[in-house]
Amino acid sequence: AALKRTSLKIGMIPADGIGKEVLPAAQRVIEALGSAIPKPEFIPLAAGWEEFNKNGKALPDETVRVLKEECDAAMFGSVSSPSHKVPGYSSPIVALRKHLDLYANVRPVQSVSGTPGPDVNMVIVRENTECLYVKREEIKDLPDGSKIAIAERQITSTASERIAKLAFELALRRGAERATPGAPETFWKGPPQVTIVHKSNVLAVTDGLFRESARKVYEENKDRYSGVKVNEQLVDSFVYRAFREPEIFDVCVAPNLYGDIISDGAAALVGSLGLVPSVNAGDNFVMGEPVHGSAPDIEGKNIANPIASIRSAALLLSWLGYTDAANRINVAVDNVIRSGIATPDLGGKNSTTEVTDAILKNL
Ligand code: ATP
Ligand code: MG
Repeated sequence: AALKRTSLKIGMIPADGIGKEVLPAAQRVIEALGSAIPKPEFIPLAAGWEEFNKNGKALPDETVRVLKEECDAAMFGSVSSPSHKVPGYSSPIVALRKHLDLYANVRPVQSVSGTPGPDVNMVIVRENTECLYVKREEIKDLPDGSKIAIAERQITSTASERIAKLAFELALRRGAERATPGAPETFWKGPPQVTIVHKSNVLAVTDGLFRESARKVYEENKDRYSGVKVNEQLVDSFVYRAFREPEIFDVCVAPNLYGDIISDGAAALVGSLGLVPSVNAGDNFVMGEPVHGSAPDIEGKNIANPIASIRSAALLLSWLGYTDAANRINVAVDNVIRSGIATPDLGGKNSTTEVTDAILKNL
């Protein structure tokens, strides 16, 4: 899935809340990479709840147009959502995934060697377009006066095969990245591994198709994926094992709903939401996004942890083929985490700016 580019135009969508504080931190880090990447150009773009309140649209057409026509990639900050349903408002991030066909949500969850806590170095690859999230729900009255609600779950071989392929390719790429000189020290030391997460013992048809499709991708590309170990884990036992022994997982691929749940769960293994990066990826576009939300409780105080965004930038660059640049960022982040320079969410006393400065100094 690596799309090596000669230019690097990045659409920057800080959106709401701390997105406006952490995205500039990521930008500073990308700018500091010098010749490791083509000269980056950042294009500020509007979206979000505040934008909706100002101009009536959460995702302006112009933002979509610029992303599609002018950008190689994008970085998204975070979006506030109203707690009640507001007519005309819908999440710009969901819309962006649709417009740009970002069918995968990829979330590496990693701990840093030399720090307390379990040894985690896994990536959750979540299918992002179907499963129960097609939102085909229905509620009916039954003759006895009670109600029945039914949700339809869609699993297609096409979507399952493309997410599986992305997971296998990612496992290969991570293997290659671990082997490059200057790579950060990682806990996962074995050959690349893909764990297919499903529940086909109960949902034999839908999860059965997901599982079979993933297996098929492997079988049909055996030459390419011969170095990848394939595992399976029922989603319930995945949760148990991920909490007991997270170190046994490398890349894990799951349908939408399970992926949503296990990726939040996995993020809890490493201490703070402020550390966990993600990319939304498709075959033609990739968008980095910290996993956390807009954190209104700490907005405007310069204490938000910028690391999730900075790691999202690294993940984005590795996706585009700039392994060395990504490695440099990740090594610098690990060094700063080990040094104890930290924002309050990690028990530290440092500001967003101080943590970012420390990372820049380490680059
Ligand atoms: P949203 O509705 O936008 O998701 P939220 O209130 O759920 O907003 P989250 O961003 O999901 O807020 O964060 C949950 C908690 O984690 C909050 O207390 C927030 O302050 C904290 N948090 C999230 N991200 C960070 C970060 N980057 N640095 C420090 N603390 C964070
Ligand atoms: Mg939240």
